[in-house]
Amino acid sequence: MRTLRLYNTMSRSIEEFVPISENAVGIYTCGPTVYNFAHIGNLRTYIGEDILVKTLIAFGYDVKRVMNITDVGHLESDADDGEDKLLLGAKRENKSIKEIAEFYEDVFFDDCEKLGMMRPTVVRRATDCIEQYIDFIKVLEKKGYTYFSGGNVYFDISLFPGYTNLSRAVLDDQIAGSREDVERDSNKKNPQDFVLWFTKSKFENQAMKWDSPWGVGYPGWHLECSVIALENLGERLDIHCGGVDHIAVHHTNEIAQTESYTGKKWVNHWWHAEFLQDDKGKMSKSAGEFVNLDLLIKKGYDPLAYRYYVLGSHYRRQLVFSFENLDQASAAYRKLREKTIEIASDKTGGASVCTAHSGDCVLHGDGLSCAEAQKYLERFYAALADDLNTANALTELYALIKSDIAPQDKVSVIAKMDEVLSLNLLVPFEERSVDANFAAEIERLISERAEAKKAKDYARADEIRERIIAKGVVIKDNKDGTVWELKK
Ligand code: AMP
Ligand code: ZN
Repeated sequence: MRTLRLYNTMSRSIEEFVPISENAVGIYTCGPTVYNFAHIGNLRTYIGEDILVKTLIAFGYDVKRVMNITDVGHLESDADDGEDKLLLGAKRENKSIKEIAEFYEDVFFDDCEKLGMMRPTVVRRATDCIEQYIDFIKVLEKKGYTYFSGGNVYFDISLFPGYTNLSRAVLDDQIAGSREDVERDSNKKNPQDFVLWFTKSKFENQAMKWDSPWGVGYPGWHLECSVIALENLGERLDIHCGGVDHIAVHHTNEIAQTESYTGKKWVNHWWHAEFLQDDKGKMSKSAGEFVNLDLLIKKGYDPLAYRYYVLGSHYRRQLVFSFENLDQASAAYRKLREKTIEIASDKTGGASVCTAHSGDCVLHGDGLSCAEAQKYLERFYAALADDLNTANALTELYALIKSDIAPQDKVSVIAKMDEVLSLNLLVPFEERSVDANFAAEIERLISERAEAKKAKDYARADEIRERIIAKGVVIKDNKDGTVWELKK
């Protein structure tokens, strides 16, 4: 079994990953809040998690991954302030909360599929586990961790000594919620106490309510992840994932309530992905305008070109999104896939190095050893084993392509690499057709290019030309202007 070295936010260092029980790995990943489309920043985090899961599988582990779907209780701030996001979505679209949640959950999993992601082993909706939350709160209540104030049940963080272990925050410097404009909740004993169950609050128009021993109300947001993880993965967890925005409040609160409930250390390894930024900073849904996968598709990008773009940088580095950068990645992805498909169509040519060796072969089995080809695969795995360094893993793929290894062995290694990369490297491009959105986007770029030429800004004109080509389009300039067609 290969060893994965993985950064652990708890220790702020890269550690050797050792599963709790032999080769079985339990992973919990905070799922989407389904009140709107996922933006491509959210999707970056999920692509990172997909690489983590597939790397573990490639290394021989048996992975069980659990994800929640937040369809209740996530207020506008990650602490207990603002309106429920689902309610906001329902108001915005004049639909019921259930309609909103189901629609965006479906879109989310469609996006994930288009981006080559594997579906988690278990997916649970927050609203399907209300009974379990009530039982969980009852245990915390019995153990003395809760108090009832102003109609809500709160968790008292002063009773949990390791509260700041993950965030390393200095509590005196924090304000309840993290937003300056939010009033402090006067029911709280400590500013960071959080609600387990709301009955009365300033958000009384909450549409989804359930009966409970504390009155009719709804659960606090953090509960779902603790309860769903405990129910499906047991009291100790190998890896818990999410974006870095969840470190200070959501994951900190998850740890406090879960460890108070079980009396044990919960998570061995905390995995967090850095933000995708846009020109205004962190890409966020609440900011209103954001880029989603559908927009990329409408603009003519292959979703896997976005995956390739994400894999080109490390998950713990912020990535600044721009269409120019995506165009470059898109062109590189197309070239790469054209090359790997070409190698696959030539795979009968040349002698296979397999026949020249004997021993075990991870590629072909049958006691064959394609030692040269395997070296590339080993280096590829070594890059992933180094805290999931996907950029270096891609470098090994390029090195393999350039090498003089026989095509059929290259193909075997590419296929293995693609089990983790999921870039459809050996799948021929689909026949594409032009829809109105795509055509409008190309026409827009062509006229931008014409403007640039008119202004004698040839560098800009060339840049736009590259962007058009990156979309799999061939352009020709003639005396009447520019014509274009899809690349055959
Ligand atoms: P949400 O649907 O808002 O609950 O977020 C889903 C996931 O996306 C969580 O793991 C967040 O931490 C993560 N996330 C939110 N914003 C970004 C961003 N700009 N870049 C990367 N990940 C993000
Ligand atoms: Zn969570």
